Amino acid sequence: MKVIVVGAGIGGLAAALSLRASGHEVTLVERTARFTEIGAGIQLAPNATRVLRDLGLLDTVAARASRPAAMTFRTWSDGTEICRYVLGREAETEFGAPYLQVHRADLHQALAAPFPPSSVRLDTEIVAVDQDDTKAYVTTADGERLAADLVVAADGVRSAVRERLFGADRAVFSGTAAYRALLPAAEVADLDLPDYAGWLGPGRHIVHYWVRGGQLLNLVAVFTTGTGTGSRAGTAPWGESWTARAEPGEQLREFTGWDPRLLTALERAGQVFRYGIHTRTPLTRWNVGRVALLGDSAHAMTPFQAQGAAQALMDAAVLGDCLTGVTPAEIPDALDSYVHRRLPTATRVQSGSANAGDAYHLPDGPAAEERNTRMAEYGTENRFGPHSRAWGSGRGEP
Ligand SMILES: Cc1cc2nc3c(=O)[nH]c(=O)nc-3n(C[C@H](O)[C@H](O)[C@H](O)COP(=O)(O)OP(=O)(O)OC[C@H]3O[C@@H](n4cnc5c(N)ncnc54)[C@H](O)[C@@H]3O)c2cc1C
Repeated sequence: MKVIVVGAGIGGLAAALSLRASGHEVTLVERTARFTEIGAGIQLAPNATRVLRDLGLLDTVAARASRPAAMTFRTWSDGTEICRYVLGREAETEFGAPYLQVHRADLHQALAAPFPPSSVRLDTEIVAVDQDDTKAYVTTADGERLAADLVVAADGVRSAVRERLFGADRAVFSGTAAYRALLPAAEVADLDLPDYAGWLGPGRHIVHYWVRGGQLLNLVAVFTTGTGTGSRAGTAPWGESWTARAEPGEQLREFTGWDPRLLTALERAGQVFRYGIHTRTPLTRWNVGRVALLGDSAHAMTPFQAQGAAQALMDAAVLGDCLTGVTPAEIPDALDSYVHRRLPTATRVQSGSANAGDAYHLPDGPAAEERNTRMAEYGTENRFGPHSRAWGSGRGEP
């Protein structure tokens, strides 16, 4: 069958690979003029790396990744350890695939490499989608109409296709924004930072980890902007551009009083980017006829469980499975099955991520102490930590 995938981000590329592996002819349509990913890190939990393995890409991605042995949560002001969760070999054995931390560009490149140029249309923005009983159609900004048996919309948090299918619900500002930076290892060698840690403080948290086998430290500093009430409300004074630069020193003012090691790292960061974190309101379905949403267009979430791309990869794997051996007439049913298998999990992870952000940002005092005790106790019950609830077992679903 002929499939058009709109958007060549992590979700769109993975969906296109998965559908090709299921025997379909896929055209990828991307609005940017070339394949790009921003300079930032991304964490790939075992539910993501299992999909990469099935796509034949795990070795390529792992060769440029970092593999954390553990994650610690710490107190914002002095780094006191709150809890430690095990990753490394133990997690790999338990969940059937490794926990990796990678540069986004490395992941994107690995996913994009298998595509022959003839199956990709860059510099092509989709502005409309429609369908009849036998075909689905997308219309480009230049007015061209492309037909396929199936259209998969992986066009991100600002999805134009979602708006066409389900009306003008907007991306929702989460009330949180983030600074991000990548620092060469030599810049932070004297700071004695833990390899992978989340530092929790009032209205703020910082996460850092290594990518490229320890060559670069990825640092993300998140704060509640004060315009919302918690991490799920508010209007957006912060754009969601991933390439807007912070003012010089802005990140230091926002994190005044934090552990000096973190402030030194934030000060030494050459380029600091800032962006508002946006989500989408959960839908009760992601498909209409021969068109389906996938990835952030379906379920954009806050990044506080590091699961957005992982869930997009799982969508891609399940979509490919549901479309295997299907005839054009069976597509609407196959898409129902895809949504049935994926929507409940992705929606649960969406709300779990929002809750995690709220818990991370509690003010100092009894509530934060109770959270710390709970997080420490959780480590004795489940040594992989609460986030591992989203990783599945690898048996059955990907
Ligand atoms: C700070 C932060 C940290 C994160 N960390 C993690 C993490 O550690 N682990 C994790 O799993 N996830 C993480 N995520 C989430 C993850 O980045 C996203 O969930 C994931 O990238 C979504 O992929 P996607 O393909 O659905 O959308 P996108 O990556 O946004 O791709 C959409 C693509 O569609 C194209 N496009 C858009 N509109 C059109 C159009 N009309 N026509 C044609 N093309 C179009 C865009 O140019 C783009 O290439 C993080 C997110 C943030 C904000």
